[in-house]
Amino acid sequence: MRGRAGARIGGTPHLRAGPARMRPDPGARHADGVSADDAALPGDPPAPRDPREPVALLLRDLRATPAGLSVREAARRLVVHGPNELERRGGRRWPRELARQLLHPLALLLFGAAALAFVEGEHEIGGAVLVVILLNAAFAIAQERHAERAVEALRSYLPDRAIALRDGRPTEVDVRELVPGDVIVLAEGDRISADARLLDGAVEVDASALTGESLPVARSAAAPETHGPLLDAPQLVFSGTACTAGEARALVLATGMRTELGRIAALSERTGQEESPLEQEVRRVAWVIAVIASAIALAFLPLGTLAAGLPLGDAVSFAIGLLVGNVPEGLLPTITLALAIGVGSLARRGALVKRLSAVETLGSTTVICSDKTGTLTENRMRAAAIWTAGGDGDVAASASRLAADAALPLLADALAACSNADVDRADDTGEGASGDATEIGLLLAARALGADVSRARRERCRRRHLHFDPVRRRMTTIDERPGGTVAHVKGAPETVLPRCAAQLGPDGRAAPLDDAARARAEAAVEGCAARGLRVLAVARRALPEEDALTAPVDAVEAQLVLLGLVALVDPPREGVADAVARCRAAGIRIVVVTGDHGRTAEAVARQVGIVRGEATVVTGEELDRLDEPALDRLLRDDRELIFSRSSPEAKLRIADALRAEGHVVAMTGDGVNDAPALRRADIGVAMGRSGTDVAREAATMVLTDDDFSTIVAAVEEGRRVYANIRKFVFYIFVHATPEVVPLLAFALSGGAIPLPLTALQILAIDLGTETLPALALGREPAEPGQMERPPRRRDQGLIGRELLVRAWVYLGLISAGLVLGGFLFVLLRAGWRPGDATGEGTPLHGAYLEATTMTFLGIVACQVGTVLAARTERVSLRRIGLLSNRLVLWGIAFELAFAALLVTVGPLQRAFGTAPPPWEALLLLLAFPPIVWAADELRRARLRRAS
Ligand code: ADP
Ligand code: MG
Repeated sequence: MRGRAGARIGGTPHLRAGPARMRPDPGARHADGVSADDAALPGDPPAPRDPREPVALLLRDLRATPAGLSVREAARRLVVHGPNELERRGGRRWPRELARQLLHPLALLLFGAAALAFVEGEHEIGGAVLVVILLNAAFAIAQERHAERAVEALRSYLPDRAIALRDGRPTEVDVRELVPGDVIVLAEGDRISADARLLDGAVEVDASALTGESLPVARSAAAPETHGPLLDAPQLVFSGTACTAGEARALVLATGMRTELGRIAALSERTGQEESPLEQEVRRVAWVIAVIASAIALAFLPLGTLAAGLPLGDAVSFAIGLLVGNVPEGLLPTITLALAIGVGSLARRGALVKRLSAVETLGSTTVICSDKTGTLTENRMRAAAIWTAGGDGDVAASASRLAADAALPLLADALAACSNADVDRADDTGEGASGDATEIGLLLAARALGADVSRARRERCRRRHLHFDPVRRRMTTIDERPGGTVAHVKGAPETVLPRCAAQLGPDGRAAPLDDAARARAEAAVEGCAARGLRVLAVARRALPEEDALTAPVDAVEAQLVLLGLVALVDPPREGVADAVARCRAAGIRIVVVTGDHGRTAEAVARQVGIVRGEATVVTGEELDRLDEPALDRLLRDDRELIFSRSSPEAKLRIADALRAEGHVVAMTGDGVNDAPALRRADIGVAMGRSGTDVAREAATMVLTDDDFSTIVAAVEEGRRVYANIRKFVFYIFVHATPEVVPLLAFALSGGAIPLPLTALQILAIDLGTETLPALALGREPAEPGQMERPPRRRDQGLIGRELLVRAWVYLGLISAGLVLGGFLFVLLRAGWRPGDATGEGTPLHGAYLEATTMTFLGIVACQVGTVLAARTERVSLRRIGLLSNRLVLWGIAFELAFAALLVTVGPLQRAFGTAPPPWEALLLLLAFPPIVWAADELRRARLRRAS
């Protein structure tokens, strides 16, 4: 038990209003059940009082410093405070789940059937129906549990990380290891995972998850103290919110269940998963079938009693058997499980999806809108060329020109300053570097040119930082230099060159950047971009000291002196070209949406095969000028489209326009501003490695490896899972016809043909032969050629005409014919003629029992053939191999063993009214599976020829 003993803090009663909510409760999570008070070791962190107290007091209360905790102290506090995670509401859930399963409408229908059986005195049937209901409920619970676990397991693939100062160094830690007293570093796009007080800096926070307020709010370390509601305090940030802009350091005050989020979580139940369109459809279909089954069962009553002279009791129990046997009550959990298993296998392939329904949506994806950098390419940028007014060449050549060209050392120095990456511990290949890939590449080049790129110097000298964002596409720092204060700028040439007034010559003198010089620089940019290189312009300017901290951004980034250009190579990822080819075959379009230069994007797209003919490159500005109809036309007509220099808003427009055209859109994104587009797309895809937490939160799918190929693999997986669901639904549907047709024979012959099947046998078929093979079909590997067909249409349902005709009419009638034939064969062989009595005590009764058993076994045998047929939808079984899904074979083995038991074990024989048929009949049975399977094989061959 986690005691409340420690709720008293240091014996100090808490009097101030409001903050009591925030007061940590050390005893509540004490790992060994002893309250923090009792266990107080020297240096144990007592709890702070009011989170809005002056920082100095908070630090003292938490025994913390602005430089963070030592690794050892943090580990010790972790033991005291427990991990920083929200506790699941424990307790036993299964009674509630069982109740849910037993009370759902289809189960109630079955209960009604059981009640009817008991009323009619058919206790065996009633009991059997109850067993069916219970087994189904147990099975459903097991499947849903399994599904839930599969989804929960995703967390371990992508642990949430935070940056905390440990031993004075910014260190990436698992958020569960955050403790009160830690100092965390927040940057744009980070999820905030503890309640904390800002120590320095300012951020904008999206607190919608906590407060419902959708506009971001400003939080600043320098904000004055207020006494309003705690959640509005301007110096505090809370777990569950996200930083959408700015940078700050913050002191962790509360973690885990003691955060405000934890309190809310403790109050509210977990919200369940929303039902996917597929599940809705299946629920609907299950109802339709239940109604049909009920109608058939009801229709059987007058037919059976009046036309065929069956006693009412028998007719009722038979009707019940029919009803129960055909209500697909197990379908929904089976589908849920298949989706969940799909989620699991997607995770193993590097794609984490957050909703079960995403698996089916993935399968129908028609367009992938992909970033370039990091998704199509490796995001391993290395400088390939450096251009200055004095000349150009690769890094080594430039290093040898250092003495001759005064622009080069200044360019290297600018790159060293204007950066947030860290190559202190990196070798020359970049191994061990951290930070943005572009900046790592630039820092490595600067180091090769002799600049001091250490983080320590950079931080010592930096006065101000105007950070990079994908709309500005440039970054500026203001740094201390021996000669005075200097602004260093780097960014996309289009945004930097217009802000340059001069260019530094090799002699160290700045010459005006006239039209000719500008044209030369632009030509150099074009030349590099056409080779697929990412080009950045680098510039500087001296600033009057008094302007350093206060001058507005536009004033700082003006009148710049161009130092040169750096071109970076970022090789395409291995496997992307192959994935692109697979998309082509599968009828999936790829649209590149990038912040990079159009030429660069086009060159890379060409390298990986996205662009083969004449590509249409639309820049952000051009896109802004297009109205909606023009954009629609563009998206419809141009097959090879690249959106370059595009803004996050552009992504939103593109996603909307494509969806309006009926496309199913997968859209990648990584920044804070991409979140709306990620939400709007059918499948928002975020990057697990390079993306921000905010993008990951907004996305439907997170790629653990950031790789484009993984998106394609996920689409493949989605198609496979959906096809498999169709396969087992088909399989489950087939047995209805061979159950109903023999009955019709009985009824329509006016009882001249006796009832070919008993009610209990129908129930046995329902229980014994359906579920396992269905589950096995859910594990079927992808069918060859699956990615050589166009995507499934969004409006095409799971259970369409084609599936029903194949199941109920084609294979259904063939099976029914075989089954009825087997039944009559056994009877006729025993000398029966139509109209002869077969009831108990008649000479033919023994033969009748054998004959009904033959019907039962016939249906089982036909199902064996059906499951083999169901394994593929188009290709032949030979193509995939009989043994390629062992589970199906196990399912068949189980089915056969189950049937054998019913037919041979004495008590079961009596309960189910079975008797082993003669051996000729058994031989005949052997032919059933191949006939059914071969019939479908023929159908598929015709299908293949037709297309
Ligand atoms: P992408 O879609 O390729 O990821 P980004 O939005 O990251 O594009 O970058 C767009 C452009 O901004 C790049 O082509 C580059 O010129 C510039 N840029 C990228 N990163 C930085 C950075 N850290 N500092 C300055 N400019 C950058
Ligand atoms: Mg980028």
